[in-house]
Amino acid sequence: MFEPLADTEERAAIRDAVRALCDKFDDAYWLAHDRSGTFPVDFHQAFAAAGWLGIAMPEAYGGAGLGITEAAILMQTVANSAGVFAACSTIHLDIFGPHAIVVHGTEEQKARFLPPLIKGEVRACFGVTEPDAGLDTTRITTRAERAGNGYVVHGRKVWTSSAQQAQKIVLLARTTPLEECARPTDGLSLFYTDLDRRYVEVHEIAKMGRAAVDANSTFFDGLPVPLEDRIGEEGRGFRYLLDSLNPERILTAAEAVGIGRRALEKATAYAKERVVFGRPIGQNQAIQHPLAESWAELAAAELMVLRAASLYDGGKPCGAEANAAKYLASDACFRAADRAVRTHGGYGYASEYHVERYFREAVLSRLVPVSRELVLCYLAERVLGLPKSY
Ligand SMILES: Cc1cc2nc3c(=O)[nH]c(=O)nc-3n(C[C@H](O)[C@H](O)[C@H](O)COP(=O)(O)OP(=O)(O)OC[C@H]3O[C@@H](n4cnc5c(N)ncnc54)[C@H](O)[C@@H]3O)c2cc1C
Repeated sequence: MFEPLADTEERAAIRDAVRALCDKFDDAYWLAHDRSGTFPVDFHQAFAAAGWLGIAMPEAYGGAGLGITEAAILMQTVANSAGVFAACSTIHLDIFGPHAIVVHGTEEQKARFLPPLIKGEVRACFGVTEPDAGLDTTRITTRAERAGNGYVVHGRKVWTSSAQQAQKIVLLARTTPLEECARPTDGLSLFYTDLDRRYVEVHEIAKMGRAAVDANSTFFDGLPVPLEDRIGEEGRGFRYLLDSLNPERILTAAEAVGIGRRALEKATAYAKERVVFGRPIGQNQAIQHPLAESWAELAAAELMVLRAASLYDGGKPCGAEANAAKYLASDACFRAADRAVRTHGGYGYASEYHVERYFREAVLSRLVPVSRELVLCYLAERVLGLPKSY
């Protein structure tokens, strides 16, 4: 139904191998995890065992040393499988979370941190969002204070995905009070450290979808962080985070394309077989046209994902394309999932047809890691040159 997102033999091989692995985890597997809310440990371990978690990490540390284009192909293929967003979130942080370590970590840190992640021996979570800061990240109040040969962290994060499972956290904290900084983006530092439960409480948030992967309120009460767990220089953490915004947008856009196509494939198959008024419902243009439109929207979004990924891998600026890809892909994903539910009529609401699960997860693709509104703010300001509005 779709041209493959792969223009070289190596990329086609990645897609085929990942698809074969994902096929072992079918709709019944993911529906069961959606109902029980249990983390898909065996799916994660299968990806680690096959070596996929290190796809974009340096070969010297056990990774494959490939680019964001290959990582996007991997994540789109995972998203296109029965696990949709939940499957992506199971491995997304292992693939993407260490980006700052790869780019800004010392050789000692890379050797210490990357191999256990790639082998699936440890799991990491990502602690940036806070309840009182939201998308205005410079307003976070979690603080890391100097103590002896390191820091002590106090504060609170929210929405920390997979913190129930994780032994490690990529943590953004303020090391200089906001009022003492020349700019709000100064004075924030990035750490990769143990999520030591003696000093950290993790409370799961009940939520609409992606039930297999927990999201949490995370409370830090004096977490000690050794100096050697700080990534890069003190006070430059926000800038390090900015470096990883574009690749993260590209990967989540690729995931949205994969989810949207999964929903569209189910809708199309159902439209061909469901007979009402003596003919397949797919013979009606009111059913055909929205599905055809979704095909076109997803194809266009995929092209933007590939364009952004190839610019990033070529070392060229890609902010406009990465943001546009995120916007187009998540909207196309949401529309395809909504149409998949409606094409199924009442059965679209039944769990056993799976499209309601895809729909609940497609909603998330428009919310994270950045909202549609903030993407449009970026394009208006940075591409069109309009005044900053936030
Ligand atoms: C399931 C799930 C998993 C997540 N996992 C993680 C994770 O692992 N780690 C992590 O750090 N975070 C995570 N997040 C957090 C996610 O990235 C944030 O929810 C997201 O950044 C939005 O922040 P907020 O919810 O506080 O929205 P807010 O900042 O409160 O914004 C609310 C709404 O107002 C709009 N808005 C705000 N300001 C403006 C403006 N100036 N102009 C126009 N519109 C505006 C926004 O677009 C949005 O629609 C997760 C979230 C969810 C739901």
